[in-house]
Amino acid sequence: MAHYLYMDVTNEPSGKKSNFIQDLIDEDLKSSRFNTHVQTRFPPEPNGFLHAGHAKAICLNFGIARGYSGLFNLRFDDTNPVTENSEYVFSIRKDLEWLLGEELESDPLYTSDYFEQLYLWAELLIKDGKAYVDDQGAETISIQRGSFQEVGVDSPFRNRTPEENLLIFREMRSGAFAEGHCVLRAKIAMDHVNMNMRDPVMYRIRNERHFRTGDTWCIYPTYDWAHGQSDALEGVTHSLCTLEFDSHRELYDWFLDQLDIPSERRPYQTEFARLNFTHTVLSKRVLKRLVDDSVVEGWDDPRMPTLSGFRKRGYPASAIRSFCDHIGAAKTNGTHEIELLESFVRSELNQNADRKLAVIRPLKLTITNWPPEHIEMLTAMNNPEDPSAGSREIPFCGSLYIEHNDFMENPEPKYYRLSPGREVRLRYGYYITCNKVLKDEAGNPIELLCTYDPETSGGKSPDGRKVKATIHWVSANHAIEGKVALYERLFAVEHPGSESGDPLDDINQSSKTLLTNAMFEPSIAEATYGDVIQFERLGFFNLDQNDPILFHRTVGLRDEWANIVKRRK
Ligand code: ATP
Ligand code: MG
Repeated sequence: MAHYLYMDVTNEPSGKKSNFIQDLIDEDLKSSRFNTHVQTRFPPEPNGFLHAGHAKAICLNFGIARGYSGLFNLRFDDTNPVTENSEYVFSIRKDLEWLLGEELESDPLYTSDYFEQLYLWAELLIKDGKAYVDDQGAETISIQRGSFQEVGVDSPFRNRTPEENLLIFREMRSGAFAEGHCVLRAKIAMDHVNMNMRDPVMYRIRNERHFRTGDTWCIYPTYDWAHGQSDALEGVTHSLCTLEFDSHRELYDWFLDQLDIPSERRPYQTEFARLNFTHTVLSKRVLKRLVDDSVVEGWDDPRMPTLSGFRKRGYPASAIRSFCDHIGAAKTNGTHEIELLESFVRSELNQNADRKLAVIRPLKLTITNWPPEHIEMLTAMNNPEDPSAGSREIPFCGSLYIEHNDFMENPEPKYYRLSPGREVRLRYGYYITCNKVLKDEAGNPIELLCTYDPETSGGKSPDGRKVKATIHWVSANHAIEGKVALYERLFAVEHPGSESGDPLDDINQSSKTLLTNAMFEPSIAEATYGDVIQFERLGFFNLDQNDPILFHRTVGLRDEWANIVKRRK
């Protein structure tokens, strides 16, 4: 058996132990079920990008390995040559390392590296009379499996002799048959109460090139046949998977029993609940459709619940890890509000993100009594949550931009921001009063003429005069022009597809708004990719990796999760 190097995750003290899987492992350790270490893995199929659900599985497996000073490895379950490719392998590793915040110490493992061993084991089962070649088509086999109410029917090929089976199986491998001509099935019982035990398929003929093994194979193991044995080969002690594999456990155990895997190398499967979010779909199949149908701009579109989408949007990996830690592992499926994840992102960014001023829908504002040509440098805090982040200077002059929606010509009740005759405070600056509105031919405001009160430097009035609003601004003479992309939910309803059955029917048609003449304060020129910035009053924004003047809105400032919690009480 090949020996593999694993990532050694012994360098941190045990994390908090609180979920049922950890209780189970504690018992295993007490009873010495394993005489070695605890070992876990993350086994994605390289047929798509990683999404938030995978993040949960990664954090769980990695956290357990770390908590028990054990081992963790990444294994690509690459048994389907049609849907898998190395682009996915590359992205999965990159996203996993980004999520964990560290690099794997050794290269990932691949089920395809075990194809020969799996083949030899299949021959062993055939020789023992525990597997047979069935010449029936997929449809017939499926019908013969019966149902929960009805026992299955034996295949007419079920009683082929081991010698005959071996001969045909070797011919299968050598490419003697066309696709679909026959399959290898385990010989268990067609009347088994567990449908997965009704002579499951182990090998199919597929004349397809595999992205790693090339044309070496024309028969490919099924996931059911490969999965448990791959864990055993790697020395995985605790095979953690999602609840839908619950009924496969018996089959995995059956295979391991037939192969005489020694008990200390035997993986034990435990199931945990899948992660689901409102307004979100976590299924690679659906996510791939969104990409293929150009509903989004690729797997890493900031609206996608993929790790690469989260990264582009500005979600810190540590916030995703904290979220996964918070939800832990549960034994029953449920759906989390997407606002909860966003609240983890927001509260982390709130601690760390520098604040800056930006106007994303600019409206010109001229201060008519400002000394011509005069520029005043105003001091602004970089992060009120973190005094060590220091301060910066922002230029202020008589020609500014403010946000279009911070002005209303005929203010509604409770609208306290700028309107004709009203005074407001400019952030870090002075009190201003709007005196006149200049309009275009259609009657839309295009410029506001205001006066400032020189006595209100620093935003304070010496006579104690109060204003009800503080609005942000940028100097029109110094602003850097750029773009911002605002995102709304990709799906308009809480449970996409619940009505029609197809989540794509519930796509929110206006989930992205690109604003192309946003105005940023000059210090934005120093922003570097990877730093998320809070544009005051607008939200958190992440600089695009390739476009130096494009910012993606990560999350807004309002804590929607707090509102949900309040409503529930
Ligand atoms: P999808 O349903 O999106 O296609 P998958 O389960 O087919 O996902 P795999 O590549 O097989 O994708 O997943 C690798 C691992 O991630 C599996 O162990 C699986 O249990 C886990 N996983 C996948 N989706 C979720 C989820 N929503 N919540 C928790 N774990 C998940
Ligand atoms: Mg799967």
